[in-house]
Amino acid sequence: MNCKGVIRELSNYIDGDLDPVVKQELERHLEHCEDCTMIVDQTKKTIQVLCDSQPVSLSADVRSRLHATLREKTGQKPT
Ligand SMILES: [Zn+2]
Repeated sequence: MNCKGVIRELSNYIDGDLDPVVKQELERHLEHCEDCTMIVDQTKKTIQVLCDSQPVSLSADVRSRLHATLREKTGQKPT
């Protein structure tokens, strides 16, 4: 699993909806990737706040901010 995979599976991971094998791969990536650990952490916190008033799901805004962060970290140019 790479950083893109983590982002792709992020909402399922946080929902606890992930295939156990995929989850294991994701957590193995988190062990050595500070960026993704930070993203998972921040997303969990964001969702905890949102949870008070809304069902658990990543808003388009959160998702696009995550993608922007990932692009910065990986040095990819925005498309
Ligand atoms: Zn990563």
